[in-house]
Amino acid sequence: MPFSLTPDRVFDCYAQITPAYLKERGIKLLLSDLDFTLAAKSTPRPDQALREWIAALKENDIQFMIVSNNRSGKRVTEFCADLGVPYEGHAGKPSTRGLEAGMERAGAGKSETAMLGDKLLTDMLAANRAGVLALMVEPVGGAVTAWQKVLHALQAPFKALSRRRYGGRD
Ligand SMILES: [Mg+2]
Repeated sequence: MPFSLTPDRVFDCYAQITPAYLKERGIKLLLSDLDFTLAAKSTPRPDQALREWIAALKENDIQFMIVSNNRSGKRVTEFCADLGVPYEGHAGKPSTRGLEAGMERAGAGKSETAMLGDKLLTDMLAANRAGVLALMVEPVGGAVTAWQKVLHALQAPFKALSRRRYGGRD
């Protein structure tokens, strides 16, 4: 399994990832982290913008599933039920088991799958180890605590490398 922290692509926000972008790359299944990727951790319910983004994916026959390390099963369960999407909880990222379970459930191969997340050491490492497209977003709400700011600084060079590869183009 390759050990790489570098995302294939970095976006400012999940909403920049369009069905067209995913379709061009043959992606039929989008796996996604929850906390700080789709919503701040303190946000108990999905907002309207997130609901519309998920609806657009579904309209374009792109399956969507949450793969979360969140140990509070209640939050993930309720958030995903409200959103109407399946999830793999206790995923143990950077282990690939949650991603592989998601692909198995969806009937999608790794070349048809992308993993979206905000952290290199869990989400992007798991994506690269699993051999799926690794898509990263800046954390929702930005870095707030001291630890988040440290993490943010440590992640910066890898994100910069990914952005340089694309030269800011789509
Ligand atoms: Mg996260």
